[in-house]
Amino acid sequence: MPDAGKYKRIELTSRYGPAVMPDMRAIDMRVEDMPSGTWISPTLRAEVTARIEKGEQSLLFINRRGYAPVTICRACGHQIACEQCDARMVEHRFLKRLLCHQCGESAPMPEACPSCGVEGKLAAVGPGVERLAEEAKEAFPEARLAVLSSDLFGSARALKEGIKTIAEGGADVIIGTQLVAKGHNFPLLTLVGVIDADLGLQGSDLRAAERTFQLIRQVAGRAGRSERKGVAMLQSHQPEHPVIRAILAGDEEAFWQAEASERRHAGVPPYGRMAGIILSSTDVAEVFDLGNALARNDQALRQIGAQVFGPAPAPIARIRGRHRVRLLVKADKAAPLQSAVAKWVGQFKLKGDIRLSVDIDPQSFY
Ligand SMILES: [Zn+2]
Ligand SMILES: [Zn+2]
Repeated sequence: MPDAGKYKRIELTSRYGPAVMPDMRAIDMRVEDMPSGTWISPTLRAEVTARIEKGEQSLLFINRRGYAPVTICRACGHQIACEQCDARMVEHRFLKRLLCHQCGESAPMPEACPSCGVEGKLAAVGPGVERLAEEAKEAFPEARLAVLSSDLFGSARALKEGIKTIAEGGADVIIGTQLVAKGHNFPLLTLVGVIDADLGLQGSDLRAAERTFQLIRQVAGRAGRSERKGVAMLQSHQPEHPVIRAILAGDEEAFWQAEASERRHAGVPPYGRMAGIILSSTDVAEVFDLGNALARNDQALRQIGAQVFGPAPAPIARIRGRHRVRLLVKADKAAPLQSAVAKWVGQFKLKGDIRLSVDIDPQSFY
């Protein structure tokens, strides 16, 4: 566990490298004229069209695989969910299937709603990379499109060849997921449009803002790596958000300051210590009983001045048929958290198929 100052410095220099960033601009989605079911703003569309005319490449980036993140029944409002997890099934039109991104479960797209039985009323809500490609095809009918998403290529080799063809000028508009962020070079690329820069700014995940910052910078860094000047445009509904502002300014220091003050405020790493305890079982009553017993018998934690929160359903309350309950422990930075937690959970024998996992200073809290 690095101390606060060191943490900031190491993250700053090693991860992002000396890459020259392109011009960064926000597109304020609150003032763009957006027909429903579309995600490419008129401003971004005009920029892409100008690139096509000049023989330059554009990249439209969205960090969501599949066609649409949600499938809803317009008759009864039911959202199609995984039978094994508390997660929605994601439509993959290319594969003609619904997939669970949590556990990998897949199913054919049903004709009728599994809840009310009405046929022909299931509708896709929200954009995924496949749906964005559909919109781009309509918006730029004369352009050659290429879609870069991990599930559209049969093998790593096919993917590598696809990327090579694109880099050599085999496409005018690239539609891509985070796959494109991984260090490939596209010398003809002069425009990156981030479709939803707000995605990942909220949530229960402490590192969401950090990942958003990192990912958008990496993707933006794809533009203008040769002699041609590049620009990155971020579609955002909250361009005044500190993370978006820091990305636009190319100001890592400002980002880390904004992040650090929020973390200090919340008493989370690196300004405090936390432990996440996840209990899981196929029996929901057993798992809550153990969670409550842990919360009541917290002497070992109180001895070091730590506090326990929960039990509460974990953010993903069921995975592969197992119910998940979470407790959080918060302590001061100097407290011997690990040994106290070991003593605390060691009071109990695990019954049935209950599993317990402890994560000290967790990276995320799913
Ligand atoms: Zn229905
Ligand atoms: Zn699942």
